[in-house]
Amino acid sequence: MLPDKLRTLVSLLHRLPGVGEKTAQRFAFSLASERAGLAALLGRELSSLNESIAACTSCGFLADVRPGSPQLCSICRDPRRNERILCVVAKAQDLLAIEGSGAMPGKYLVLGKLLSPLDGVSADDLPIQALRQLIAERNVEELILATPPSVDGEATALMLAQELRAAGPRISRIASGIPHGGDLEFSDRVTLGRATDGRHGVES
Ligand SMILES: [Zn+2]
Repeated sequence: MLPDKLRTLVSLLHRLPGVGEKTAQRFAFSLASERAGLAALLGRELSSLNESIAACTSCGFLADVRPGSPQLCSICRDPRRNERILCVVAKAQDLLAIEGSGAMPGKYLVLGKLLSPLDGVSADDLPIQALRQLIAERNVEELILATPPSVDGEATALMLAQELRAAGPRISRIASGIPHGGDLEFSDRVTLGRATDGRHGVES
């Protein structure tokens, strides 16, 4: 019923997280009828998105690609950050959520995945060696494990605490106030700020 172009657009938009078919249709109709050229603007931005952004080589968050200079995100480039505090998160959106709380003076490492036997993710797939190296290089005093309070998140935090205890830093865990199975990305700033401030030591 829809023109081919619009049908393709709806099916592409529908692949985005949180965008149902109705919403995808609304977006597609809006873009098709928009006179100010939003479709063209979006098209230009999207066509260069993947070449313009890449993972920060230090922490794994997203960074601008800047030819000729190291690919570091704005947090890793910020000299005011306390690099002796290292916060480990599961994904880039969680870093953003913790940043929004304003309670983290340190730097981050984005794991990109969590221990998950069902999905075949084992300890060997996590950057444990890179973490050991960072802890030694920066003389890290506190390692904050901010993986989500889910089964995989807890298992990952426990494993990292066991593996990295000998490396020397104080190890703490944020979680209080975030419901079990909750997603850091969707926690409000106040709760996340409190959870970060009220972090507790990990015994293992
Ligand atoms: Zn970075």
